Amino acid sequence: MKPDVILIVDDDPAIRLLMKHALSDNQFKIFEAESAEQAIELFEQNSPDLTLLDVTMDGMDGFECCAELRKLPGTQQKAIVMVTALDHPEDIEKAFEYGATDFMTKPLKWGLFNHRVRYILKANQNLVELKSNQEKLAKAQTMARIGSWEWDFESPYLECSDEMYRLLGLKPQSIPITYEQISTMIHPDDLAHFRSTLVYTLKNKKNYDIEYRIICGEDTIYIHDKTEVVNGRLTGIVHDITNHKKSEQEIAYFAYYDTLTELPNRRLFINQLESAISTAKRRKERMSLLFIDLDRFKQVNDSYGHHVGDELLCQAADRIKECVRVSDVIGASQSAAPRGENKVARLAGDEFTVILCEVNAVENVAVIAQRLIDRFKEPFDIDGNQAQISVSIGVAFYPDDGVDVNTLLQHADAAMYHAKEQGRNNYQLFSTEMNKFLQDQLKIEMDLKQALSDGDQLVLHFQPQINTKTQLITGFEALVRWQHPTKGLLFPLEFIGLAETSGLIVEMGQWILTEACCQAKKWQDAHGKNYQMAVNLSALQFNKDCLPSQIEQAISVSGLNPRLLELEITETAIIHDVSEAIPLLFEIKKLGIKLAIDDFGTGYSSLSYLKNFPIDTLKIDKSFIDEIVNNVKDAAIAYTIVQLASNLGLSTVAEGVEYLEQQVILQEMGCGQIQGYLFSKPMSPASIEETFFKELSKD
Ligand code: C2E
Ligand code: MG
Ligand code: MG
Repeated sequence: MKPDVILIVDDDPAIRLLMKHALSDNQFKIFEAESAEQAIELFEQNSPDLTLLDVTMDGMDGFECCAELRKLPGTQQKAIVMVTALDHPEDIEKAFEYGATDFMTKPLKWGLFNHRVRYILKANQNLVELKSNQEKLAKAQTMARIGSWEWDFESPYLECSDEMYRLLGLKPQSIPITYEQISTMIHPDDLAHFRSTLVYTLKNKKNYDIEYRIICGEDTIYIHDKTEVVNGRLTGIVHDITNHKKSEQEIAYFAYYDTLTELPNRRLFINQLESAISTAKRRKERMSLLFIDLDRFKQVNDSYGHHVGDELLCQAADRIKECVRVSDVIGASQSAAPRGENKVARLAGDEFTVILCEVNAVENVAVIAQRLIDRFKEPFDIDGNQAQISVSIGVAFYPDDGVDVNTLLQHADAAMYHAKEQGRNNYQLFSTEMNKFLQDQLKIEMDLKQALSDGDQLVLHFQPQINTKTQLITGFEALVRWQHPTKGLLFPLEFIGLAETSGLIVEMGQWILTEACCQAKKWQDAHGKNYQMAVNLSALQFNKDCLPSQIEQAISVSGLNPRLLELEITETAIIHDVSEAIPLLFEIKKLGIKLAIDDFGTGYSSLSYLKNFPIDTLKIDKSFIDEIVNNVKDAAIAYTIVQLASNLGLSTVAEGVEYLEQQVILQEMGCGQIQGYLFSKPMSPASIEETFFKELSKD
């Protein structure tokens, strides 16, 4: 073993001699210096492990000498002990300030001197090793992106390693770190879990082991945070696992996605179909599956090569996605807010599937299938060349055609083959009854188009609304009827839905509005009565692009005072998108017309919304009126609605009043108006004139 090197610095030769003597039993290599200047020179040459440095010397004193020595390279690991006769605390303080490791006071106790020196050497050696280990550890942690921290459960601050700071995107030790501050950097989706873990830990003083994401500027870092309670302190190791997570995600991506089209592959599709089925089951809804096959794709592949085939598949995937996007489909379905997403997958080769999650009605699915077929009529552009390819589509419904993944898939596939047999470029439903139903619907849709252009098949019937106190007519509700050339008189329930899915409702609504206004004006002119005219609006008419102009046109064509026109809207139409509905309601209110909520009580019934809507009337739904005499609950609901309306300064109309008892109760409740078979069924304008205006005309 190499002997320790000691440098004795003292201007008193006697002290140097005594020191050297006291240390002579050991294997030390000893140098002596009589001045600070000489000490510096010897230090540079021999790099002593321990320097015993006298404070009071001629020339440069011990303090300054110590400071100079500390400036030399490599001195940090060496022990420098000040030997001084001064024992004022300030001097000792000063010694440390100038970089001393320790101090000894004169007179020295020679018996102990030897032990003291050996102890200092040993302690310094330990310190040097500890420091080097710490450095190695910090380096290793930096390389592995591992940070550490400690917390005593009491103080607001965590003691964090430099690497912990770096992981948080901060300069090491730049600011004190609190849990609260870490929370502000955590990804919002992970925050709740982080907080609840912390609350649990605080309460139980237990370890935790969690993963969360930290947002550092543009980057998101995945962190694994594992703790242990040691001596009442929580010690944490924090590991950056971003790369690990990324590769995990990549593996998952390849396992579940088709790399060519980036659509979900068969495996993910099966999972999605399973969950769509269970959602539909829970909500007692219908759900549909489309099986799409490109017609004669093999020919394209064989004649133009795989490169063209691949490109065609990618473009086909994009077209399918476009056609089934929920925001586009929703207009065709009558459902309110979208609750899910339609899912497209590539099953294999040129086979694609679509899960339509919310399109319940058969006609709505047909609209989408047809849209797909039409979209494929447009040629594809592949590297500047035009290519044409059509699709055959099979459709199966849950629960009608199957209640599990396999059956549903098989049946959609069978329907697709049927579409191929039918000459390709078409869609088929799996069950024949449904096909038949759909055919009928399509036929009615064509007829409706015809009816709109013919102009005399659609007619309006009118039902009087009566003031409960005076028993006099206050106005009429216009209700549309369709005089079908072969099917006879059709009621709205048989064709309004179809008019909505096909988009014909807008044109039809315009006709109804204008016709109703003209009729009201006609009666006003003929009989001098200011009857109010109530007109129903479909949810699909209720949008800012068409409604205000439709109303303006109806008013200007008819010349009706807008105050006599009341539009009936359902709650669902408004709630579908409240932020759009409110400004629209105000805009149409500005035209001077009145607004009523139809079928009140059956929709979302968010009473809190009511005060924000500029409405005039609530129409209590027939379902509450039916049993109002015998059912206490229904009576209570009707009463509440009347009270609510009265508090908000709105009027009420009870719908579907068929018996006198109902009328009496409603009268007692304070309901202003009633409408129903008791007074009159909806009738043609001629019958209305005959029944109610004959007397007036005579006057
Ligand atoms: P609604 O607006 O709630 O109309 C009231 C419905 O109840 C009418 O049915 C009416 O004939 C019926 N009704 C009235 N009093 C009684 C009664 O005492 N007993 C019974 N059992 N029924 C009664 P209708 O004409 O078949 O219309 C049904 C629904 O179709 C209407 O409900 C409305 O939502 C819609 N509708 C009718 N006409 C139009 C229209 O011109 N445009 C639009 N968009 N929808 C319309
Ligand atoms: Mg109505
Ligand atoms: Mg109603």
